Amino acid sequence: MKLLVNCKDCQAGIKLKYPVLDRAELARTMGDTIRLSCPQCGSKRTYGVNGVVARESKSISVLALALLLLGTGLIAYLLLSFLFVSSNPYFALLVGGLILVPSIVYVLLKKQERERVSRFNRYRVGV
Ligand SMILES: [Zn+2]
Repeated sequence: MKLLVNCKDCQAGIKLKYPVLDRAELARTMGDTIRLSCPQCGSKRTYGVNGVVARESKSISVLALALLLLGTGLIAYLLLSFLFVSSNPYFALLVGGLILVPSIVYVLLKKQERERVSRFNRYRVGV
């Protein structure tokens, strides 16, 4: 999850580098307003905590995808090698079932990230 504020002068997205779980925690650690300087136009302004928007982090998507591809590739490789060694169909079925594991991890990682983003965006700090 990454946190962004739109610059009041040039509308560029300013990234917040605070590892918080939700908006309440952001308000607790930073106060109700945050002073930020825009990396695009350099203007320094104060932003309300409620103006912060959460987006899904690209690095989580890349990590999840890498795990999916590597995991599936590795298991497919193992499966093919075992197929030559073992003639037991149940064994092949078991290894074949393993191929689902990276997909499940991928879905869970994406789901968790989406839930963190929506929880952050839903919750507003009282004014
Ligand atoms: Zn700006």
